[in-house]
Amino acid sequence: MSKPQSDIEKRKQISVRGIAQVENVTEVKKTFNRHLHYTLVKDRNVATARDYYFALAHSVKDNLVSRWIRTQQFYYEKDPKRVYYLSLEYYMGRSLQNTMINLGINSSCDEAMYQMGLDIEELEDLEEDAGLGNGGLGRLAACFLDSMATLGLAAYGYGIRYEYGIFAQKIRNGEQVEEPDDWLRYGNPWEKARPEFMLPINFYGRVIDTPDGKKWVDTQIVYAMPYDNPIPGYKNNVVNTLRLWSAKSPVDFNLKFFNDGDYIQAVLDRNLAENISRVLYPNDNFFEGKELRLKQEYFMCAATLQDIIRRYKASKFGSRDHVRTDFKHFPDKVAIQLNDTHPSLAIPELMRILVDDEKLDWDSAWDITTRTCAYTNHTVLPEALERWPVSMLESILPRHLQIIYHINFLHLERIKKKFPGDLDRMRRMSCVEEDGEKRINMAHLSIVGSHAVNGVAAIHSEILKAELFRDFYEYEPKKFQNKTNGITPRRWLLLCNPGLSDLISEKIGEEWPVHLDQLAQLKKWSKDKNFQRAVAQVKQENKLKLAAILEKETGIKINPASMFDIQVKRIHEYKRQLLNALHIITLYNRIKRDPTAPFTPRTVMIGGKAAPGYYMAKQIIKLICSIANVVNNDPIVGDKLKVVFLENYRVTLAEKIMPAADLSEQISTAGTEASGTGNMKFMLNGALTIGTLDGANVEMAEEMGNDNIFIFGMTVDQVDDLKRKGYNAYDYYNNNPDIKQCVDQIQGGFFSPGNPNEFKHVADVLLKYDRYYLFADYEDYMKAQDKVSATYQNQTKWLEMAINNIASSGKFSSDRTIAEYAREIWGVEPSWEKLPAPHEVIN
Ligand SMILES: *Cc1c(COP(=O)(O)O)cnc(C)c1O
Repeated sequence: MSKPQSDIEKRKQISVRGIAQVENVTEVKKTFNRHLHYTLVKDRNVATARDYYFALAHSVKDNLVSRWIRTQQFYYEKDPKRVYYLSLEYYMGRSLQNTMINLGINSSCDEAMYQMGLDIEELEDLEEDAGLGNGGLGRLAACFLDSMATLGLAAYGYGIRYEYGIFAQKIRNGEQVEEPDDWLRYGNPWEKARPEFMLPINFYGRVIDTPDGKKWVDTQIVYAMPYDNPIPGYKNNVVNTLRLWSAKSPVDFNLKFFNDGDYIQAVLDRNLAENISRVLYPNDNFFEGKELRLKQEYFMCAATLQDIIRRYKASKFGSRDHVRTDFKHFPDKVAIQLNDTHPSLAIPELMRILVDDEKLDWDSAWDITTRTCAYTNHTVLPEALERWPVSMLESILPRHLQIIYHINFLHLERIKKKFPGDLDRMRRMSCVEEDGEKRINMAHLSIVGSHAVNGVAAIHSEILKAELFRDFYEYEPKKFQNKTNGITPRRWLLLCNPGLSDLISEKIGEEWPVHLDQLAQLKKWSKDKNFQRAVAQVKQENKLKLAAILEKETGIKINPASMFDIQVKRIHEYKRQLLNALHIITLYNRIKRDPTAPFTPRTVMIGGKAAPGYYMAKQIIKLICSIANVVNNDPIVGDKLKVVFLENYRVTLAEKIMPAADLSEQISTAGTEASGTGNMKFMLNGALTIGTLDGANVEMAEEMGNDNIFIFGMTVDQVDDLKRKGYNAYDYYNNNPDIKQCVDQIQGGFFSPGNPNEFKHVADVLLKYDRYYLFADYEDYMKAQDKVSATYQNQTKWLEMAINNIASSGKFSSDRTIAEYAREIWGVEPSWEKLPAPHEVIN
């Protein structure tokens, strides 16, 4: 283990998050030693750093237990309306530091470890990320859980406990290589298995008619085993539950082999059933219509709905002794939020339960279902929209297919009534697509089955109403809402940037983590020299820290005085990492043309995972690494320009990057990025943004004013005009010598001397098949980048802008987002009241 921090360094950290109390420190040390002995079965002579991490994690978890039990008791006694957040992804990252901070015991644990000669940061670094998500959508779900607990909502997250999360990205010879993410290898100290609540899930089979209605029979059963994960609110003694389902084979799975005498084969085949929760599909914004994925989606929905209904029936509702049997009040007691269409089978599944099992008539069941469910759309990209082949549903979920058909029949009857004779409208609005292979449009099903539909930023919600869901908006305008995304300020400032957190608290007190609007008070110090100096110093320390991490992990030395220009997000053509690459090449060519011209030194960092099957995204990574090779090894360039591909971008790396960024790249083609949340993390940490008027960038610019952000490029309307006119990349290529030079270099093997044809395809896409109009925004992007460079030379101006960014980020707290969902969709009221603290725990 490395040397622990000095006492003074330690004190500095402690001041952010309260003062360590002697009794608490003593208690932590006692608990820690008990766990090292009884849980880890080690003494300090043989214990490894990982043992110490687990001993600390278990000690911290102990402090959750009474709060968790009491929160759930409180919900049972009070029986408020429950909110169920259904998501196939939860990109949680690490839990240890977040739990300590939310419980208010960070300093006590720090001090306890220090007194024991251990470096708490080194222990924290041994925790595996819970990488059960791909990118923004999964991270949003994680931020929402934090905010729902902090707002005291009786909320539950439901999802899948993937045995393998998002793959680990290795860069080998400038190419992405995927490694399986075996995150449960050393055990997960945060989860609690609940085998007593295991539930059967049906697949395949057939539907028969009985005097009592339809019946789904001869099914294959797989069990869903729940694992509960605690979600602590911020210093309010609330602990909510994230329940993740794991697939478990029934004991009689493939019994026919057993009867045939092949006992061994029957046991081995139990894997087949348990494969359902094996691995997260690694696609971001892309629909891959695989059977296993459909099974995952249904598995999650079916298990969750059984759980919801069990809890509804068992809940008090006036009388403790009566099991509730009528469903009249279901929508008053249950809100179900669908995180994209991935859990949209919840709609036909709820109908199936109400009609087939609970014997409600169709219309009552439909009224209950639509009043309960609400749907969040996350993308307008056509390749991302889920359209399941009817043939696949027919075999795996035959009863659900019937129900979907009937939902669609009644839906089209209503459309016909309102728009008589408009057959084309009925075709457009159908949940069943009939051209080519028959498919179910899950977005249409979700709209029809929900009482509210929302986009995730104002501009995105407008596009939904005007384009993707236009017909549905015309039919039911009141259904359509906006809920601009947010991020939790606990993880994305308090946890990841203690230096800046301290500075802010010194100025405006310590309430900002739960009332982020209060950051607006910082505006009055944006020109204050002392405050600017302090903010600059924190940024510089964070940059040095990131530089040290990068040097340790990659060997690359970067100039900490250079501007840290960062684009981290999944690699996708619509996010336009290639436009960033064109800027890098343009800067390089400028330096080569005139090596003595003044230049603002930059370190351009790009990071993100490519879906393993996304060829172009992998080529983009390869190109960036190849450009880095050329640029970084050119003596003429020297310290002016460095290019780094950040390996294995994930939540934990994001926590290290955001505090160290000077410039945030948010450069998607207008109209393609639904919201973005990375943009908000950068802003909150005092980076300036260069970006298009896309997603939440629009609202960020509104909040801070155009003087504090570098906006460039086409607006959505201008993109539409260009689309109509017809985009011809050659027009730009032939008329702009800088574009021509860049593309010729890519095309001609300048960056791939060993293989001159390596990037021919990339150049071909740019010139002939570019759906994202890179060249149309190139010139304006370069101009905006030049303005960035010039502004960076004026540090006083830059710092003023950075402070204005921080001060304007209050709107982007996920607490604000969740309060809006609560009031405008779920019909519940947030509560800032604390639950009483349990007596025996430290606090
Ligand atoms: C916030 C976050 C994202 C989303 O970033 P965008 O720039 O909004 O796409 C993706 N991955 C990780 C690890 C994140 O923390």
